[in-house]
Amino acid sequence: MCGSASNLMIYQRPSAQSMAKSAELVNDPTYLFEKSLPFFKDGQPLQVFCPKYATPFATWAKAAFDDVGIDATQGFNSGSLIDHQFCAMKIRPGCTSRGSSELSFLQTGFKSKIVLSAGAFQSPQLLIVSGIGPAQVLSTYGINVIVDLPGLGQNMWDHVFFGPSYQVDVPTLVMLKNDLRYLFSQLLMWLFGGNEFLTNPSTDYIAVEKIPPESRSALSKTTEDDLAFVPSDWPEGELTW
Ligand SMILES: Cc1cc2nc3c(=O)[nH]c(=O)nc-3n(C[C@H](O)[C@H](O)[C@H](O)COP(=O)(O)OP(=O)(O)OC[C@H]3O[C@@H](n4cnc5c(N)ncnc54)[C@H](O)[C@@H]3O)c2cc1C
Repeated sequence: MCGSASNLMIYQRPSAQSMAKSAELVNDPTYLFEKSLPFFKDGQPLQVFCPKYATPFATWAKAAFDDVGIDATQGFNSGSLIDHQFCAMKIRPGCTSRGSSELSFLQTGFKSKIVLSAGAFQSPQLLIVSGIGPAQVLSTYGINVIVDLPGLGQNMWDHVFFGPSYQVDVPTLVMLKNDLRYLFSQLLMWLFGGNEFLTNPSTDYIAVEKIPPESRSALSKTTEDDLAFVPSDWPEGELTW
């Protein structure tokens, strides 16, 4: 949720039913959305805000999603992720710069809650070399077993991500890379507090949907079985700009 790495800075909470599934799988009701919500809200000093500038293409994206029949919502942080909306982002409202882990937690001297996180791959690796993980793996490498956790480091899920490009007739973030004069003008505006591109990480508009019924017939049996495991409010496709 917070992210110490380079990312799109979007702030979203999980869907209520996916958290209910997690709670069921680990047999711990603390993971229910309503039980976790106070902790999400107590996310201070992480600051969440909307960019003060909407990218021109986002307004077209909104119109396109309306047109194809995806509903607009204000609810990406309310336990539902289906539909489309402008995103909340990890932005500091005062200066509209990034609310990074460094700025939000380390520099503010946040001491009461520390989470050691080395990423999806290296968190389990770090635990395993410390003696916490599947006993069979630990013994293979001669590591003393402190806690036998057979599931640790197993069953990683990932998602496909791809980005088709089309030339459009409105300013986009790509102009900052390709047009030095445009970049310079945006830099000047940012320095003097303007509401332009450099206050928006882009991808400020998102639609999330279930795979439409007419496309589901193309799914393989394995995909159908995998999708049958997840709850009904599980996002199956996300469109970002
Ligand atoms: C392209 C992209 C876009 C994304 N966009 C978003 C978004 O908009 N919003 C969002 O919420 N999430 C987003 N994410 C996901 C988000 O970035 C990750 O979930 C998040 O960074 C995970 O944070 P982390 O601290 O667990 O791990 P990481 O950010 O991976 O940080 C782990 C750090 O630990 C260090 N490390 C590892 N092992 C050791 C060790 N043994 N000793 C010392 N250091 C170690 C690594 O070098 C790394 O710096 C995006 C991810 C990608 C790839």
